Amino acid sequence: MTLPAGYLRQHLIDPELCGRCNGCEEACTRKAITHDYRNYAVDVERCDQRMDCIRACSTGAIDNWRIVPAAGAYPVEKQLEWVELPPPIPLAAEAESQAVQDALGQAGRRPHPPKSAPRPEINLHTPKNPGTAVVAENRALTDPTDDSEVRHVVLDFDGLNFPLLEGQSVGVIPPGYDAHGHRPHVRLYSVASAREGELPGTRRVALTVKRVLQDHAGRSARGICSNYLCDLPPGSRVSVTGPVGESFLMPDDPGTTLLMICTGTGIAPMRGMIQRRHRLAPSQGGPVTLFYGGRTPGELPYLHELQALPHGLVDLHLAYSRVAGSPRQYVQDVLRERSSLVTNLILRDRCYIYICGLTAMERGVHEALADILRPADADWNQLVPQLLSEGRLHMEVY
Ligand code: NAP
Repeated sequence: MTLPAGYLRQHLIDPELCGRCNGCEEACTRKAITHDYRNYAVDVERCDQRMDCIRACSTGAIDNWRIVPAAGAYPVEKQLEWVELPPPIPLAAEAESQAVQDALGQAGRRPHPPKSAPRPEINLHTPKNPGTAVVAENRALTDPTDDSEVRHVVLDFDGLNFPLLEGQSVGVIPPGYDAHGHRPHVRLYSVASAREGELPGTRRVALTVKRVLQDHAGRSARGICSNYLCDLPPGSRVSVTGPVGESFLMPDDPGTTLLMICTGTGIAPMRGMIQRRHRLAPSQGGPVTLFYGGRTPGELPYLHELQALPHGLVDLHLAYSRVAGSPRQYVQDVLRERSSLVTNLILRDRCYIYICGLTAMERGVHEALADILRPADADWNQLVPQLLSEGRLHMEVY
């Protein structure tokens, strides 16, 4: 792929879709991605288009490209000011070539959805044109602790064109303005309900919201959107954007196996997929194996609900990291303990793998899977690109 002389393909991040999760900045080995209190931006001088960042983004915001004259590339400072991407620059005739089309076509290497997943609708409502949903239910899911609480917030989308599939996310715009006089950014929450709604036939969809009361260093800090949502009584109106997400979807193919690995509120998309399989006739669904980690049983969202599912629907493996008198266990430790089960699942070509939760957990899980598969002469690191291209590996970590 050769661009006409004097042009380059510039990588940009869509501020309207960006969930500000920092995944792209962490993934970029060239340190080309930076952010301020407004936006994430890509330094054109540093970006070598290795695409490490593409997999780290679940919203599609990262996968934007423009062919620009080399002298007119957008500097970081400009990108940080944007509220939306600028329109494509009109190019000279020589740049409107097949090479340009090829360059744009090859630019994004997004993770693939399962082949049998329905085609999702995306971005029907944007920050400029948000929809309004109404809170139908708001209840505690976990025992409150000094630093957090998780709540089940059900939104009613009645009257709004907002079709959702399991694994997609809803954007929420909290009201008011930040300290700099700007509207707060959209925060993304995975839907925790199946596509038919929290109750089949309703337009109600559950979100799993963790009220944040401390920052990562343990200092007192209130998460803007999580506290807003957790405090809303039924009947409150909420500005929503989306649907968001094109690849973290479940297969519709009967008999496919789902292997889920998650921590904390990372259970949200898994619950939607499990609810879907629960509602399908056994011949239409397939088995689910769930590895689920949290500090204590009281802090695991939906634990009782999962334990009450019909026998045989979900093979549940739990890891607790802070139960007094018991050794600390993370999900990757339990994966290692069940290594033959995990090996058999992954090497089956009808197994779809979903990893959701903390960024640090994802690293530990990759290491564990590499170790687990080695005795079977399988190389996890070589398997990953194949699984991604077949839509059989999905990761959403923040
Ligand atoms: P959490 O309850 O704070 O933690 C879950 C468990 O993970 C704890 O037992 C924790 O152990 C453990 N953990 C810590 N470091 C680990 C590591 N390196 N490897 C494995 N386990 C580790 O989790 P959370 O705050 O709910 O976080 C869940 C994540 O999912 C968040 O990043 C969230 O953004 C993301 N997520 C949320 C949604 C949603 O819709 N709400 C959707 C997708 C993803 P210790 O604390 O004892 O070390």
